[in-house]
Amino acid sequence: LFITLEGGDGSGKSTQSALLAQWLEGRGRTIVPTREPGGTDLGTELREIILHRRGYIAPRAEALLYAADRAHHIATKVRPALERGDVVLQDRYLDSSVAYQGAGRVLDGTEIRDLSLWAAEGLLPDLTILLDLDESIGRTRLDGARTKYDRLEDEKQDFHARVRAAYLELAAAEPERFLVLSAADSIDTIAERIRDRVSELL
Ligand code: C5P
Repeated sequence: LFITLEGGDGSGKSTQSALLAQWLEGRGRTIVPTREPGGTDLGTELREIILHRRGYIAPRAEALLYAADRAHHIATKVRPALERGDVVLQDRYLDSSVAYQGAGRVLDGTEIRDLSLWAAEGLLPDLTILLDLDESIGRTRLDGARTKYDRLEDEKQDFHARVRAAYLELAAAEPERFLVLSAADSIDTIAERIRDRVSELL
């Protein structure tokens, strides 16, 4: 079972991922928690470049760095885990790329999706949980916490508004894959809705 979590910065993906992992473990499942970028050794190096390198990275170069991270991550960690029958709980996947590298950096969303699918040899999640949040609330929640991402300081409110709109469009296009929840709801409410949906897939 391959589950991805998506949403803007500060939407609570890590909190919900940890709660879901705990619940699934309680039901006897083996969980592989992972993330993009940075789910492998190579990915950690790429994450360092993508998020911490000072200076301009051309949008297409950035998209390819994410794709390289994804290709290696899916081939060496995610597919083997799925073949073992583990549950892969992944923070961000190809929808992040369509939203951030596509809508955010204003590249063609279809091309970014095709690039991601090529990198991942077509692997799509069984379920994608989108924690939808007004971008200004997300940024406020994170205030101060994210200055560690040197590269992201130039991303302004309209960038995050485009990311949010792109996510909602993706979810509307594939309603059977997506579960869209308001990240403004309480942690418990969100966790319960996620469990309801995941239990249908077990
Ligand atoms: O979710 P996490 O905090 O690890 O993501 C770090 C940042 O990387 C995000 O806030 C986002 O701005 C950026 N990112 C991106 N494109 C992706 C994945 C992450 O721009 N495909």
